Amino acid sequence: MVKLELGDKLILRKGHPCGTNLWLVERVGADVKLKCTGCGRMVIVERPQLLKRIKKVIR
Ligand SMILES: [Zn+2]
Repeated sequence: MVKLELGDKLILRKGHPCGTNLWLVERVGADVKLKCTGCGRMVIVERPQLLKRIKKVIR
């Protein structure tokens, strides 16, 4: 079970179309808000969906 905290950085199995594959956790709840460290775009992902997509957590 992966526990996510604010400020964690995530490497996902699939990167953002901008070419970056490093995301910053901005908010944690039932949904998780992520910010792409490459282009600054925010995305909101349901936690169960996100957990399946995480390759690595950097704290
Ligand atoms: Zn991006």
